[in-house]
Amino acid sequence: MLLEEILLANSFFVNEYRYLLKKYSHKPRKHVAIFTCMDTRLVEFLEPALGIRRGDAKIIKNAGNRIRKDCDDAIRSLAAAVYLLGVREILVIGHLDCGMSKLDTELLSERMKEFGISEEEIDKNDLAAWLGGFSDVEENVVDAVTKVKSHHLIPRTIPVHGLIFCPDNGELKVVVNGYGQAEKE
Ligand SMILES: [Zn+2]
Repeated sequence: MLLEEILLANSFFVNEYRYLLKKYSHKPRKHVAIFTCMDTRLVEFLEPALGIRRGDAKIIKNAGNRIRKDCDDAIRSLAAAVYLLGVREILVIGHLDCGMSKLDTELLSERMKEFGISEEEIDKNDLAAWLGGFSDVEENVVDAVTKVKSHHLIPRTIPVHGLIFCPDNGELKVVVNGYGQAEKE
């Protein structure tokens, strides 16, 4: 059972870690928030590739680092990071080979049926729009940057950068450099 495996790992971890206890602030040392994808290849890989360590950054993830028009939960987290946690810079990081860029809605609706979701419920939703699939990784990053920057509750003085990450070799490419676009404080 996975839960048992996790609890066992946790008891070893806590036992080891008690000698290394160090208190961290909940405010990120680098005053940065990163909005990125939930892709498993980014776990323990994106942060070291960016020189980000524990305590340095707020990291917000969802499927495909997508901000949908009718659901701005990522922006809510970013606003909390800015107003309550001292964040002064935002990075939107998409990645190559993102699963959400090749969303197969046929397969998705088949799987939903296998799990017992009724056809009526499935048909009520535009699945592609609901899950937030997209066709181009770079366009999706630019779109998320634009939505964050133009949101009425995000201050114009916060630089919002857009980047694309390679989940194989860890290389970053800048798509939007937010310094030129943020208003001076
Ligand atoms: Zn992804």
